[in-house]
Amino acid sequence: MLEARNIHKAYQDSNKKVSVLKGVDLKIERGKFISIVGPSGAGKSTLLHILGGLDNPTSGHVLFEGKDVYSLTDLSLCRFRNQAIGFVFQFYHLLSEFTVLENVLMPVWIGSDSSLNRQQLNEEARILLRHVGLRERLEHFPGELSGGEQQRVALVRALIGKPAVLLCDEPTGNLDSKTGNEIVALIQKMHRENQMTVVLVTHNMELAGLAEKVYHLKDGMLAN
Ligand code: ADP
Repeated sequence: MLEARNIHKAYQDSNKKVSVLKGVDLKIERGKFISIVGPSGAGKSTLLHILGGLDNPTSGHVLFEGKDVYSLTDLSLCRFRNQAIGFVFQFYHLLSEFTVLENVLMPVWIGSDSSLNRQQLNEEARILLRHVGLRERLEHFPGELSGGEQQRVALVRALIGKPAVLLCDEPTGNLDSKTGNEIVALIQKMHRENQMTVVLVTHNMELAGLAEKVYHLKDGMLAN
């Protein structure tokens, strides 16, 4: 369903080229939960961004349902990012001026075309927020929430558009271990209940081990 073929990525620093990914191949089947583990600086975020259509590889291909993501037109690439992929990052990236409910709805409202649709989305957002234990927090601002609560908002924001694939970049990296485990348990639940494909990137072996399959990123290549 989502496939990386011979991905290379190099960054040009002021005077030298740094090769981060050196031929990554990865095939992710629909409904699977995989993790990619590796030390800091190994290129995990780089790979996740490339898989999600956020950053071009230097060479190689990303295929989603057989289509080459980086050969799409700008508009189709935007659609792929907005509709097929949900992102959860380490630092939540919520908008501080907006309420929890607004933060969740913002990305899907932008793409919605009718007030009926918006009403439906509003209802779904409330259901999902209740589902993650934020029933009482809908009108709160991110600054009024704990880190774990903010990450749950970010998770709901990623899920509201019903993406086929959820990409998680160190989603617990900023949380204590108990709160982090709760977030991963939620991700597992979403995966089970909706047969959602999940890619979890982390340096934490214990977290990575919760996935159905663990890949190791080392020296720019993936190994089982
Ligand atoms: P990880 O997620 O495994 O910690 P990253 O993908 O963030 O690793 O980074 C891998 C390497 O690529 C690091 O050495 C980092 O400094 C470098 N890197 C990442 N982004 C850039 C960039 N935009 N420009 C230059 N170097 C970068």
